Amino acid sequence: MSAPVNLERTAAGKVRPVCEFCGRKGRAVTPDECGRVSLWDLARGWSCAPYPEHVTHPDGSTGTLYQCPACTRRLDRGEALTSRGTTTKRVVM
Ligand SMILES: [Zn+2]
Repeated sequence: MSAPVNLERTAAGKVRPVCEFCGRKGRAVTPDECGRVSLWDLARGWSCAPYPEHVTHPDGSTGTLYQCPACTRRLDRGEALTSRGTTTKRVVM
């Protein structure tokens, strides 16, 4: 089994974000100079945790993590979500 990805590359050379929690995919956009979905191109409601491309997460995926609108809302409500084996809870100040 291959490692999960945070970014899916399309045949047309575009990239689409993959939610780290539920695997939902965002719309395909032209990648920025780093080959990632730029913050400006993220569809409304999506959020991301920027990481350098060379960072490998515990689950084997690399680079920036993306969260879809539904999962972002659940985190905002204080729910703890499981991201491929690790539990994330947004700290509300
Ligand atoms: Zn999600």
